[in-house]
Amino acid sequence: MVQIKINLDENEMPKYWYNIVPDLPDPPEPPLNPFTGEPAKAEDLETIFPKSLIMQEMSNERYAKIPKEVLEIYKMWRPNPLRRAVRLEKILKTPAQIYYKYEGESPTGSHKVNSSVPQCYYNMKDGTELLTTETGAGQWGCALAYACNLFEMDCKVFMVRSSFEQKPQRKTLINLWGGNVVSSPSMETEYGREIIKQTPDIPGTLGIAITEAIEYAMKQPNAKYSLGSVLNHVLLHQTIIGLELKKQMEIIDTTPDYLIGCCGGGSNFAGLIFPFVKDIIDKKSDIQAIGVESSTCPSMTKGEYRYDSGDAAGKTPDLKMYTLGCQFVPPAQHAGGLRYHGMAPLLSQVLNSGFCKAESYREYDVFKAGHLFSKAEGIIPAPESCHAIAAVLKRAEECKKTGEKKTIVFNLSGHGFIDLYAYEKYLTGKMVT
Ligand SMILES: *Cc1c(COP(=O)(O)O)cnc(C)c1O
Repeated sequence: MVQIKINLDENEMPKYWYNIVPDLPDPPEPPLNPFTGEPAKAEDLETIFPKSLIMQEMSNERYAKIPKEVLEIYKMWRPNPLRRAVRLEKILKTPAQIYYKYEGESPTGSHKVNSSVPQCYYNMKDGTELLTTETGAGQWGCALAYACNLFEMDCKVFMVRSSFEQKPQRKTLINLWGGNVVSSPSMETEYGREIIKQTPDIPGTLGIAITEAIEYAMKQPNAKYSLGSVLNHVLLHQTIIGLELKKQMEIIDTTPDYLIGCCGGGSNFAGLIFPFVKDIIDKKSDIQAIGVESSTCPSMTKGEYRYDSGDAAGKTPDLKMYTLGCQFVPPAQHAGGLRYHGMAPLLSQVLNSGFCKAESYREYDVFKAGHLFSKAEGIIPAPESCHAIAAVLKRAEECKKTGEKKTIVFNLSGHGFIDLYAYEKYLTGKMVT
């Protein structure tokens, strides 16, 4: 059996990120200042973000040049090949062709460095000395700690308590890359102290950790806050995935029938599909883009499309998005990166306009899919990425029934080496949801 990889040369790596905003039929609805209810102005955001990133956040330009310094760092793990899962196809006995982009070869093991590196670069340029953030599963905390260390900035991570206790190795990784990490809610912010007083046993949420990270940044000199998903500039940075894929699909002269990715805040899925969405809007292609979420945190499939706060305390701008409500506390499950109450506004708009679809899967089925994939392809997928695989398997099974040779492409957003305890639970029958 031949191994099929579609490679790009270093010099073929995209030099620009793609901004979907000018190509959407309707302009996005603006973020609102939570205190006045008026559209947020650039100045409103300057307390927590550097000017250069605010400009990207509000930009209407179709392309944004990737700075030379960032391109050089990207080259450590990009462009990554488009791989064909030939062994998986064989096991499934499907006529479908299954391709995937694998982001797990990056320094911290997921797609998140695609955005942490440019975010740190722009912050460094604008004089930031300390970046604060929240992390759920720990992937974003690792990615930011690593990138801060590249640009010699300090990094403070508020890690959701349940993950902090379940995944001590992630804490070690953050420490190794020079970051400081505390369990959230923490005693280091007013908001954290208040939550601990009211509900001492709370497992923590991303919304609470965001509130703490912002409060902390606002009280330190030359400190800013950084978010690993949801916002326009994060989605912009992640389009490097879809832009590479587009070139690779041209090399094999194929268009995907399905583009599939998992969705927490929406950044890896948006990064995968946005460069293809213009063709979907113009009806030049019938690609079906499918975003996959956890049934325990179903913002797109069960949430409402409305303005809601990005954090638990209502301090961040209100965003128009699919949301379960900013007070939503998702039940414990192992895909920590999929536990955010909302979904990126740009992706929410694309979904609401019918240019992509959403599905949710149960945890056991998701791990079963990831297990099958790991036996076929040798890569242990992150629990988040297993969600995408579950949807891929469903399409491959459908093709088996109909005999259609469809092309399925998905994003394998990261590896699951730090999530083996979750696989252990799955293997020993202790996963019930
Ligand atoms: C964080 C994370 C996700 C979810 O975040 P998005 O912004 O939706 O991409 C998915 N997969 C992995 C491996 C992650 O670390």
